Amino acid sequence: MHLSIKNLSKTYGNGVKALIDVNLEIPIGMFGLLGPNGAGKSTLMRTIATLQEPDTGSVTLGDIDVLKQKEEVRKILGYLPQEFGVYPKVTAEELLDHVAVLKGVINGRERRDLVQALLQKTNLYAHRKKNLGGFSGGMKQRFGIAQALISEPKLIIVDEPTAGLDPAERNRFLNLLSEIGENTVVILSTHIVDDVKELCTQMAIIHHGEVLLTGNPMDSIRGIEGKIWSKSVPKEELDSYKENFNVISERLIAGTPEIHVYSDTKPGEGFINEFSDLEDVYFSKIKQSAEAVATPQL
Ligand code: ADP
Repeated sequence: MHLSIKNLSKTYGNGVKALIDVNLEIPIGMFGLLGPNGAGKSTLMRTIATLQEPDTGSVTLGDIDVLKQKEEVRKILGYLPQEFGVYPKVTAEELLDHVAVLKGVINGRERRDLVQALLQKTNLYAHRKKNLGGFSGGMKQRFGIAQALISEPKLIIVDEPTAGLDPAERNRFLNLLSEIGENTVVILSTHIVDDVKELCTQMAIIHHGEVLLTGNPMDSIRGIEGKIWSKSVPKEELDSYKENFNVISERLIAGTPEIHVYSDTKPGEGFINEFSDLEDVYFSKIKQSAEAVATPQL
């Protein structure tokens, strides 16, 4: 099973180009789709999940034409949307049982075993009799995975799953995802660089609807080795540094700005050569793309 996306484009009625000629080959395993808010990730996820139509292009999953054989896709798809609504007055066990019926698990005993196994797998067994309305963000997300796993999906799509989770919940959730990524295509859409770095064997960076980079996260980090330079600068000089250097990111460390500059050689006095990280890959690609938009080739 392998997901192949070719020449996918989508412009919304208001003129926003959400996807521009997207081409991606997604193998079995965890695939990270990384991009800032508004990049087009949800549009792409919803299109693959058969929830909306592109203007042009094709999507195939193994032998299945995703855009035409929607029912076939839905049988083998587990989708965890960004906003996962739950019925607040129903328990985890009841709702899983209900979803299992909807997905065609009609044998009572088989269904009971399946529901128990999924509650165990997602670490929710102890909470199975609690109403979903009282679940924390992390528990809701794990419940989302439990319901997505009911029909043993071959393709799992999770859209921004760790936004709003505290660090412990996030870890638990990412561990769960990495377990299921072993024999399934799992697409993790996120703006959180560390989610991709920790979990994904392949990734794509998307911005303004365009794929800027695809590959293995570690390879892309190696690709910029030696080119990332950091410097702590006084707040009042920050703007001048941004004008004069190729600053790809800035952050405050104990109140003082630290900039990262992308450069083949030492950019100036006081710069320290840093170990490159996926965040540097991400910000350098986004910066390049912004510059290409600002100065179009004539
Ligand atoms: P992401 O998931 O990366 O945040 P989205 O796919 O949600 O990105 O959005 C991509 C772009 O398309 C954004 O500029 C967004 O405002 C716009 N957009 C998303 N959905 C719609 C819609 N239904 N109608 C019009 N514009 C939309």
